[in-house]
Amino acid sequence: MAAKILVRYGEIALKGKNRGQFEQQLLRNLKAAVSGYGGEVTRMHGRFMVKGPEEQSDIMTSRLSRVFGVVSVSLVREAELDLEEIKALAAEMVGGFLPEQVTFKIETRRANKGFPYSSPQINQLLGAYLQQLNPNLVVDLKQPSFKLSVEIGYGKAYLYLDRVAGPGGLPVGITGRSLLLLSGGIDSPAAGWLAMKRGLTVEALHFHSFPFTSRRSQEKAVDLCRKLTLYINKMPLHMISVTAIQKELNASCPEDLGVILLRRMMYRLAEQVSYKRNLQTIVSGESLGQVASQTLESIDVIDRATKMLILRPLIGLDKKEIIDIAANIDTYEISILPYEDCCTLFLPKSPVTKPKIKVIEKYEALLNIESLLSEAMNSLETTIVKGI
Ligand code: ATP
Ligand code: MG
Repeated sequence: MAAKILVRYGEIALKGKNRGQFEQQLLRNLKAAVSGYGGEVTRMHGRFMVKGPEEQSDIMTSRLSRVFGVVSVSLVREAELDLEEIKALAAEMVGGFLPEQVTFKIETRRANKGFPYSSPQINQLLGAYLQQLNPNLVVDLKQPSFKLSVEIGYGKAYLYLDRVAGPGGLPVGITGRSLLLLSGGIDSPAAGWLAMKRGLTVEALHFHSFPFTSRRSQEKAVDLCRKLTLYINKMPLHMISVTAIQKELNASCPEDLGVILLRRMMYRLAEQVSYKRNLQTIVSGESLGQVASQTLESIDVIDRATKMLILRPLIGLDKKEIIDIAANIDTYEISILPYEDCCTLFLPKSPVTKPKIKVIEKYEALLNIESLLSEAMNSLETTIVKGI
């Protein structure tokens, strides 16, 4: 028997043309999530139905529940559009004799108004039938210990007991293409996840200082990307060495400006990668007030290094809220592994917290920025990280 999974979606505010685009992109993303397991996706009146091999039902449910735009998914059983058939299936799903009282509720949604019973009638008739078979079943509309849901479609009726929550948001690919600055820390994977949640395709860019930083710190970026691909299937990961830039900054600029100058170089490199890959915006994991490079003054000076639009999805979140997201998407445990990052490498004892753009530009004028950037761009390596 084939497994059938009902997929619910919704952005209540979507209207007209936007709704059509949302559904088309969601359909593509759902197909990408399950086609490797033999799943097929069809449209069904404000929902999608996925059919596939029974033995793949758990993995398909789990993949579908990570597709942005999806509100929830349920493994369903199918009955003919006939009340007796629906009753028989409901009895089979609820099971046999119950030794103790159990509360329940039936919830019907009738998309097909041609079906001769209304939703409240179906609730009543089905509920009474189940109670007749099982006198220990007690109706509780407010806090039932289980809920049997019935959807009356056009060709069939669908019954289910459980719902797995999806991430909500917008289907990836619908709002644009972005470049995520992915360090090995806790924040940037969470920022990438939030960007995807608003429908952005994400490619990742990681800066390293090999051989000053170990290969393990680069592998950490790969591992973090792999976790994110559970939501997006595959993600290009770009790596650039900033070793030469760091050496040069260290040799010719005051120590307390090092972090800001490095960040400005990182954004310039990110801009070049974005042009190359046709990406419209840079996403960073900066928040406000966390560390010296994240004061309003620092963010302002860093921002002026490029003309790109930079999104900072974490700007309004507390560390605790960011950690909750990281734990939820399973990146937290990887992020806290103690591998050094290029930014912590030459960390000054007291970095400047209120940098002045004039001072920064004065030191940058002493550097050969173009050649430092082109040398770094020559180190660009790209791998496509695929889902687990
Ligand atoms: P994270 O936890 O994401 O490392 P953080 O709180 O440590 O963030 P910073 O070190 O100030 O903050 O970095 C701010 C942002 O700059 C990061 O969230 C990330 O987007 C970007 N960034 C920092 N280091 C790197 C790196 N080595 N490669 C790519 N992006 C980086
Ligand atoms: Mg960091």
